[in-house]
Amino acid sequence: MAAAFGTVFMPEMAISWFDGSGWSPAEMVSSDSLTLHPGAHVLHYSSTCFEGLKAFRHEDGSVNIFRMDRNIERLAQSSELLALPALDKAMVAEMIKTTVARFADEVPAPPGSLYIRPTHFGTEPAIGKAAVPSLTSCFYVLVSPVGDYFAGGDRALRLLLEDEGMRCAPHMGMIKSGGNYASALRPIMRAREAVQADQILFCPGGDVQETGAANFLLIDGNEIITKALDESFLHGVTRDSILTLARDLGMTVSERELTVTELLERAAKPGCEAALSGTAAVLTPVGTLIYKGQEHAIGKGNIGSTTLKLRRALNDIQWGKTPDTHGWLTRV
Ligand SMILES: *Cc1c(COP(=O)(O)O)cnc(C)c1O
Repeated sequence: MAAAFGTVFMPEMAISWFDGSGWSPAEMVSSDSLTLHPGAHVLHYSSTCFEGLKAFRHEDGSVNIFRMDRNIERLAQSSELLALPALDKAMVAEMIKTTVARFADEVPAPPGSLYIRPTHFGTEPAIGKAAVPSLTSCFYVLVSPVGDYFAGGDRALRLLLEDEGMRCAPHMGMIKSGGNYASALRPIMRAREAVQADQILFCPGGDVQETGAANFLLIDGNEIITKALDESFLHGVTRDSILTLARDLGMTVSERELTVTELLERAAKPGCEAALSGTAAVLTPVGTLIYKGQEHAIGKGNIGSTTLKLRRALNDIQWGKTPDTHGWLTRV
């Protein structure tokens, strides 16, 4: 059996430390451990954010990173919103490219890839700074070779609709920060146990938002409906890429509020599909919605053809099988 996603790491990573006034020159170090003061700000006050992006091997042997600039922008924004020291975006790009290049020979061929996890957190040893930012920080780029996300079979997911609780505090939604996942963990565990849900679709006050780590797209015939960007949820790069490709294919993209009531009405119609978007899987089909104890199949409750078509369109660009017309790939 293949190793679980994200459990195998390349032995080195690029790292740089911010000492309060500048970033240390980036260096490659062993990725098997990190020395931190036990009073480090991140360990007490969760001053941490990260990214998830991928590098792909093409048939010509080249290795290409997908939408690196977008992910760097989002990491810089997460850092700013968490009051972490400002990242040097050019340095971050160099560190990502250097780390991927270092292990270029070990980037798996499609459907595998090299998953890249840039991580930034506050290191100042100061446990009295609950309401004060860390003056120092650490940034590193960890990489993990990953196989076919759908190796175990492509299965339509079951989502529990949660219209009371929320994934995280509303002003934290667009920050890719550790505390948000900790905040959603217990509700997701309960949903798995109680109704065998794979994920919770958070819909605070009836507003369909996203799951614990992926955006939600409703596909009704030629139209894709998904929540318009605001600060309450994570602005997925995959979401943006799929919407762009959908427009290219002549589909109507509606970025707007979607209520639970409208979602359940539309889901019942034949030909309706839903999917979760994220870097790990691109698009994962959703087959069943569970709301107030009732199960609602989406369309036929299985894997939708438009979902597969859009996933393939994005994979084809990532895998170098079709021209990169939007300039999304960075060759290392
Ligand atoms: C990472 C993430 C996503 C998906 O973002 P991508 O850039 O598409 O990988 C969506 N929601 C949450 C909460 C996430 O953490």
